[in-house]
Amino acid sequence: MDNAPIFSFELFPPKTAEGMKKLGETVDALNALRPAYFSVTYGAGGSTRARTFATVDLLCEKGIAVAPHLACIGSSSEEIRQILTHYRAQGVRRIVALRGDLPSGMGLGDPGELHHADALVSFIRRETGDHFHIEVAAYPEVHPQAAGAERDLDYFQGKVAAGANGAITQYFYNADAYFDFLERCTRRGIEVPIVPGIMPITNFTQLARFSDACGAEIPRWLRKRLEDFGDDLEALRQFGQEVVFRLCERLLQGGAPGLHFYTMNRVQPSKAIWQALGI
Ligand code: FAD
Repeated sequence: MDNAPIFSFELFPPKTAEGMKKLGETVDALNALRPAYFSVTYGAGGSTRARTFATVDLLCEKGIAVAPHLACIGSSSEEIRQILTHYRAQGVRRIVALRGDLPSGMGLGDPGELHHADALVSFIRRETGDHFHIEVAAYPEVHPQAAGAERDLDYFQGKVAAGANGAITQYFYNADAYFDFLERCTRRGIEVPIVPGIMPITNFTQLARFSDACGAEIPRWLRKRLEDFGDDLEALRQFGQEVVFRLCERLLQGGAPGLHFYTMNRVQPSKAIWQALGI
């Protein structure tokens, strides 16, 4: 088995032609850092389907390895099958398999036939055998809707048992939560690489909003320090970069098998940390 660390970047599909053009430049700049692959998010219920496809096309045209995200909630098995067929024909070899969250406004609606990511992983394996390397999501700080930390881990184990090759975590700023999660996985015999998801810090208001929505904790000391910067975005950016750099350094030294950067389609925040780490 190849144990080389895996460093990757995540993009989201832009909404406009202008945004797509700009993304092309972002991809070129980030690709110069030689990541293992780029991943592209997908709106559950197919809400970004065309734009995710267009972003995957952009990367494929540039000859860059791409891992489209695929969220099953709100989609029929037939829709999922069509998407897998599309990616397979395109030569895509890696997929990030998720349940997803239905966008607010789509209500509780029809959840589709696959209700959780474990069912999606099983479906992908049934339909496409070993064609895809499958990544799934992991939550060192526990998924916000989980019935408990151990139950959440049971379901994570279920995704691996269903055929996932690896996992990417929700972002966190508390390295101990990640190491504790790894230890609990090891005790259960879960051996797939679990790559930390890294969210650079550039904007406190936005980060606080995201974190509340996805259950990622901003530790009190960090929240208080970030609040103090107020409108001084440059000072906040520098401080945030130092904090996230130190987090990444600790994660890698502690055995993390790579890092996955939530780039938010920006070059500089991820690039600065990447270069400081000497990746
Ligand atoms: P699951 O693994 O299905 O877990 C969801 C919840 O259900 C958990 O509380 C779990 O404990 C519980 N559970 C799991 N399996 C079962 C089961 N069999 N029976 C009962 N309960 C169960 N969202 C998007 O919409 N698009 C994206 O592109 C996207 N990309 C992401 C990338 C990463 C790396 C991460 C970490 C998250 C991403 N998300 C994305 C967000 C993700 O979709 C949400 O966190 C969602 O709420 C859960 O998805 P999941 O795949 O972890 O779900």
